[in-house]
Amino acid sequence: MLSDADLLRLPLADLTALARVVRDGAHGRRVTYSPKVFIPLTMLCRDRCGYCTFAKAPARLASPYLTPEEVLAVARAGRAAGCHEALFTLGERPELRYPVARDWLDAHGHASTVEYLAEMCRLVAEETGLLPHANAGALFADELARLRAVSAGQGMMLESLAEGLAAHRGAPDKAPARRLATLEAAGELAIPFTTGILVGIGDDRAGQLAALRAIASSHGRHGHVQEVIVQNFLPKAGTAMARAEPCPPGDLQWAIAAARLVLPPDVHVQAPPNLSDELGALLDAGIDDWGGVSPVTADHVNPERAWPALDVLRGATEAGGHTLAPRLTLYPTFALDPGRWLDPALRFAVLDASDAEGLARDDAWCSGGEAHPPALLDAPSAPAAGRGGAVAEVLAGVALGHEVGPAEIVTLFGARGPEVRMVAEVADDLRRRAVGDAVTFVRNRNINYTNVCTFKCRFCAFSKGPLSLNLRGAPYLLELDEVTRRVAEADAEGATEVCLQGGIHPDFDGDYYLHVLEAVRAGSARIHIHGFTALEVTEGARRSGVPLAEYLTRLKEAGLKTLPGTAAEILDDDVRALICPDKINSEEWLEAHRTAHAVGLRSNITIMFGSVERPASWARHIVRTRALQRETGGFTEFVPLPFVHMATPIYLQRKARRGPTFREALLMHAVARIAYAGDIDNIQVSWVKMGAEGARQLLRAGANDLGGTLMDENISRAAGAQHGQRMGVEDLEAIVAPLGRPLVQRSTLYALAGAASGA
Ligand code: SF4
Repeated sequence: MLSDADLLRLPLADLTALARVVRDGAHGRRVTYSPKVFIPLTMLCRDRCGYCTFAKAPARLASPYLTPEEVLAVARAGRAAGCHEALFTLGERPELRYPVARDWLDAHGHASTVEYLAEMCRLVAEETGLLPHANAGALFADELARLRAVSAGQGMMLESLAEGLAAHRGAPDKAPARRLATLEAAGELAIPFTTGILVGIGDDRAGQLAALRAIASSHGRHGHVQEVIVQNFLPKAGTAMARAEPCPPGDLQWAIAAARLVLPPDVHVQAPPNLSDELGALLDAGIDDWGGVSPVTADHVNPERAWPALDVLRGATEAGGHTLAPRLTLYPTFALDPGRWLDPALRFAVLDASDAEGLARDDAWCSGGEAHPPALLDAPSAPAAGRGGAVAEVLAGVALGHEVGPAEIVTLFGARGPEVRMVAEVADDLRRRAVGDAVTFVRNRNINYTNVCTFKCRFCAFSKGPLSLNLRGAPYLLELDEVTRRVAEADAEGATEVCLQGGIHPDFDGDYYLHVLEAVRAGSARIHIHGFTALEVTEGARRSGVPLAEYLTRLKEAGLKTLPGTAAEILDDDVRALICPDKINSEEWLEAHRTAHAVGLRSNITIMFGSVERPASWARHIVRTRALQRETGGFTEFVPLPFVHMATPIYLQRKARRGPTFREALLMHAVARIAYAGDIDNIQVSWVKMGAEGARQLLRAGANDLGGTLMDENISRAAGAQHGQRMGVEDLEAIVAPLGRPLVQRSTLYALAGAASGA
């Protein structure tokens, strides 16, 4: 830890170099921003700060406060533009100075500005899903607590601890003791908190260090300071400080670097991008966050300084070798620990806006939905070579033939912007070398013989049981004659595979699955029978009272050829405890497939991702299945299944995310291609969940197979997927044709039948 004397003595270049090392060590090359709208609830303020143009006299305002309708109009516009945060900015306690403010509050039934603010936070959260962030100045503990119940974070600039600054003359709420008391009370209440210093209002560097050390000290006690804004003073016409010198860029860089070196590394350091002309200099000084950037509203505190357009911000960030990621009003550390940091009323809104890392969802796409996926692979490629960063380091290792372990896999899942394209390019190259350019598919038919199930998987919208939360559809059990009829029909239509999966009906005994196989055989002697999950065969063996190997041998002798990998979900028992607590555990799934491979039945691996788990669980799943593949060689393919959330019990109970983002889904295919290289050659896209446009992009990111034509797909549809129950070969050709690659029919075991299209 550098002393104040060191910080004051070191040359700026040395200081910023040290700050960059600390920043990169704690936050890597990722720089965040919060897409938000600004809601100036009232521009009246009882304080008179020498630099402020935000506060207005009542005569200059049409109304003392925004009405609820005006507040909602701004929030809704932000929602439509992809924002996640509603930042309420307002003056401090105007009702203590202006009768017009007091009268307005009385007329509208509010005891105070803070009470009205709380009401507007609640309204915005309920009506729009935006996460309120309240910036109401120096508050008392009861006021902070009231706002905690309706906001996902709060903020107050400390500005300076210097007593008697001319800038703060006439501003009782800017008294340092008052600001520090607010910061401390916010910590005691476990409020994710934003604070900061204002550089250039008369404080010297020693004073700035004192303010930063006071913030660090409060954070040390409570862990609540998410970020510290280092803001440069700019003089504004019409203010008492109109003729004061603006904060020199070098002083701002010094203060940013000092903040980075004084504050604990987990506290983020931010500088507003609209108050500086040189964005690269801010990055070089050690920031890792740009703060709020609005596509909708002006910066009401600095209206003369427009927000940079997002692509300008992205360009500046990437030019410095960084990647840009949207965040929520609360940072991932806080979003991923809601029990400590969030009122229960806010927890689902945060979850619903989050991706798997606890950052903001970066697109409106969701699996099975109708929104178009973003074109992640077609953005102009930023110069990749020499970028550095953890993702580039892992990819460099891959190029040298190094195996990726759990930590490297998690790093790859964190790729953003140009890094996503880098991962996809490596995966695409590995795909080409492993299996060439052919895009394969199998003609198959799904038969889900029953949707009645004794299990209570919380992500499952398909099953119907006595405790089922989902009332869509009726319970059914197909007659075996109907199974035979469907198989014969599929055979006649050219299907080479029938895929059998269903619920675990309470009346089934182990022989039921043998009867199903007989029924299939009666419909076609030649069709490949791909059926029965690890759960079904484990239950079948248990209900038959025979060892699993013996039961699987019986199924094989009755005609079963391969097992689907479904029921794997996530092979991480901490996650299974949340999403499928009564299902087989990870080891039982692995053991079922190990045993199947031992008796000569091959199978595939699935992963259902995007509900509650984090990338570390995806990595565990991949590494565990890769180890089994090295042991048995029995897996034919890896099939990522993005969670389709719409009608699932766990989402309807407000306990899951809305599936993966498109970036996460793309990376799942690409990272799997890299992690399984040399072990599993086939990476399949589920068109049911990804849609045609999404599937096409994934075929450029490591995937080589489109799965089955799937007459009668029921399971994703039950969860709300919109992409149809069946794909004709012509539909698959439409996906593949723009890629200039041939579409080739395959068998279940990847024997190629010849090109279905000649591209
Ligand atoms: S996922 Fe399978 S086992 Fe779980 S409830 Fe649905 S049908 Fe039953």
